[in-house]
Amino acid sequence: MENCIFCKIVAGEIPSNKVYEDDTVLAFYDVNPMAQVHILVIPKAHLESVAAITPENSRVVAHCFEIIAKIAKELKLEEGFRVVSNCGDNAGQSVKHLHFHILGGQKLRLELC
Ligand code: AMP
Ligand code: ZN
Repeated sequence: MENCIFCKIVAGEIPSNKVYEDDTVLAFYDVNPMAQVHILVIPKAHLESVAAITPENSRVVAHCFEIIAKIAKELKLEEGFRVVSNCGDNAGQSVKHLHFHILGGQKLRLELC
């Protein structure tokens, strides 16, 4: 998708600090961390948000969550972590390419809204 910053990261046009990569999923450190550990997990194929998930494309979302579990294990986040996906303007989604934030490495505040 043109002018999508995460598609540009996938294409290697914008650098990122990669944590994991395979054919369909990429994980990299958030450039503006909101917690001690803040990683983004994205499908390589452009999907706008959680609202664009369908039976036809949900396999990659399941794979994102497998990778989230793998990363949490590797980074020893066994004391807990949070997975967040902002969907749409009211939720503050600033990059319109589906992504899952992994937040951890510290005690997180309980703020859901
Ligand atoms: P959201 O506000 O939920 O759409 O999250 C977008 C996230 O992408 C924010 O936490 C940003 O800090 C992060 N971000 C934006 N540009 C980059 C980049 N070039 N590399 C890594 N993270 C980025
Ligand atoms: Zn994109």
